[in-house]
Amino acid sequence: MDINEKSFALGSKRSIIREIFEYSKTRAGEIGADKVFDFSLGNPSVEPPAEVDKAIKELLLTESATALHGYTSAQGDLAVRKAVSDNINSRFNLNLTPDYIYMTCGAAASLSICLNAVVNKGDECVVFAPFFTEYRVFVENAGAKLIVSMPEEKTFQINVSDLESKINENTKAIIINSPNNPSGVVYTEKTIKAVCELLERKQKEYGKVIYLIADEPYRELVYGNVSVPYLMNYYANTLVCYSYSKSLSLPGERIGYVAVNPQMQNAKNVYLAVCGAGRALGYVCAPSLFQRVILKCINAKVNVEAYEQNRNLLYNSLCEYGYECVKPDGAFYLFVKSPLESATAFYEMAKKFEILVVPCDDFGVSGYVRIAYCVDKKRIENSLPGFKKLAEILIKK
Ligand code: PLP
Repeated sequence: MDINEKSFALGSKRSIIREIFEYSKTRAGEIGADKVFDFSLGNPSVEPPAEVDKAIKELLLTESATALHGYTSAQGDLAVRKAVSDNINSRFNLNLTPDYIYMTCGAAASLSICLNAVVNKGDECVVFAPFFTEYRVFVENAGAKLIVSMPEEKTFQINVSDLESKINENTKAIIINSPNNPSGVVYTEKTIKAVCELLERKQKEYGKVIYLIADEPYRELVYGNVSVPYLMNYYANTLVCYSYSKSLSLPGERIGYVAVNPQMQNAKNVYLAVCGAGRALGYVCAPSLFQRVILKCINAKVNVEAYEQNRNLLYNSLCEYGYECVKPDGAFYLFVKSPLESATAFYEMAKKFEILVVPCDDFGVSGYVRIAYCVDKKRIENSLPGFKKLAEILIKK
């Protein structure tokens, strides 16, 4: 074939989430959207904060259209990068300057950029199961090998001894995603400290840098008093991949950033490699209008309480019916042990009750499904009788 085989294979590969989404649309046409309980997509159900709407309107009225829709510098508008670095500094007690911020099209672009900035062919990158499935695509496309570290049983925290067994002289980076998609787990400070101590030790042992890539699109979505350790404060060689997709409910606008820790080894060169990777991948000049929106809305927040109410309703109900669930402290996913050995078999059975969940084998942990509860609360309420019946059939108490 006269095209790129790898890209062809990737484009043709069946995506279970896309398949469920298509099925959901067809089924909604047949029986009505209110009768289909689709929990497959991580699309925010909470509206962006009012400040976002106001900022867009103001910008359209007050700024010249050519400036507003024109190119910014490749790494992003200076004032926007300054707002981002000031925001990080004030929240996490750091000293970043705009020279360490690169505006991107969301966390997906941030991850691709960071990986392409630091890995060379033959390097390995460790991810923690369960993991966002796109990591495999991003890591392999950057030329590295994906290595999966298995979690602690039940808590789904990072298993530090398993991680140790996965690190060798080829390890170039690890990706930490907390709050986690698909488990909803927030890694504790104790876990983070243990991971960072291990990385420091391994860097010394192998006489090389191991980068920590923090994938943080869900940082702001946490419940109760849970706090998410800011990794630059624990480990110098950290790059942060941030996104406003979930924190401001703007996934379609494609806006986020990469922050390079100025304290890391050769920080200036790493930032230049980030700029170079952005250039090579075509991720230059993140959407101009939304860069300006971020400048005006840097402290805005979505209504996290709505997600917390959904979490409480779903988690409490499913536990009561006998399902084994991982309690999510953040993000908007519930990770549930499939009552059948095969998560796909459970997915098929739930479908008969018009409930659409995602079997998680591709996330690196078999026998679990993911329920995205970023939906209208009514959908959860109306789905509960179906979940209850499924439990009565499948779970022996
Ligand atoms: N990382 C994780 C863990 C995600 O769940 C997602 C999206 O769902 C992304 C990255 C990509 O986010 P973005 O839409 O900002 O590119």
